[in-house]
Amino acid sequence: MVDAEYPRTLGEFDRWFATEDRSRQYLIKVRWPSGFRCPRCSSGDAWLTQRGLMHCKGCGHQSSITAGTIFHGTRSPLRQWFQAMWWVTAQKNGASALGLQRILGLGSYETAWTWLHKLRRAMVRPGRDRLAGEVEVDETFVGGAEEGGGRRHVGKKALVAVAVEIRGTAIGRIRLQRVRDSSAASLLTFVRQAVTPGSRVVTDGLQSYRGLAAAGYVHKRKVVQGSGEAPDALLPRVHRVASLLKRWLLGTHQGRPDRAHLPYYLDEFTFRFNRRTARHRGLLFYRLLQQAVAVHSPIPYARLIGGSAAPGATTSGADLIEGDM
Ligand SMILES: [Zn+2]
Repeated sequence: MVDAEYPRTLGEFDRWFATEDRSRQYLIKVRWPSGFRCPRCSSGDAWLTQRGLMHCKGCGHQSSITAGTIFHGTRSPLRQWFQAMWWVTAQKNGASALGLQRILGLGSYETAWTWLHKLRRAMVRPGRDRLAGEVEVDETFVGGAEEGGGRRHVGKKALVAVAVEIRGTAIGRIRLQRVRDSSAASLLTFVRQAVTPGSRVVTDGLQSYRGLAAAGYVHKRKVVQGSGEAPDALLPRVHRVASLLKRWLLGTHQGRPDRAHLPYYLDEFTFRFNRRTARHRGLLFYRLLQQAVAVHSPIPYARLIGGSAAPGATTSGADLIEGDM
């Protein structure tokens, strides 16, 4: 990668985005890496107006540089959005709405909350690569009442399917998804979406995974032998990721993102985890911006609250990014 595609330090960030105009120019560069084209006449000859519109010299058409992105219709300066994105990505453990409200001096908690959720929606890339090679798969309960609450609390918890690439003794990339239950239908659907067929999938002895071989995977079942081995030792990477996830939910989000929004927290965790070895946090900012300017359908606040909106990104632009880095 060419150096200086993204700011690497807070000092660089402040210089690069000192003005609204510079922030807009950067967005244009990221959104149209091979140059802006007028959506009406395809001319590449255009200039940026003071209101943030691209004015086509060929046909006079004016188009918004944020139309179709997660910034669409925002009344806040792009600069402030960039600051939010920097803050969200620069912190190893992510951001809470209250923290974002404080650091940006946003007028209301609801605004900060909405911004965070819009950014989370940009953290998952549609059509992203599936995991490959050797992959551990298991499920875990998150959220709900305190640990040890007993069976009656299970209803408040959510079941999350976890897939983790095995890289020697280490962990590669991960995928997380909330699933309805541990039935074969739920879990095989998850594996199909998360793991490339032909890969070797390691699970415990749960019956639901029996269909993996028929679904085109090399299936390796690990079963607890006698009394000596703890179940967690069978799939150590999945359990490591699950415990990091739970700690993160507890620490940053007080352990209780409601179930409707859990998928977006899972996306944020995955986004961070799969880039945990990035040399500069600025790379995360850059990736997030690339995904934020991929074409998204705007999501009204009411639908964000409900948590029922379809994943935002719909079309091109989203598959420009290779791998998870
Ligand atoms: Zn034009």
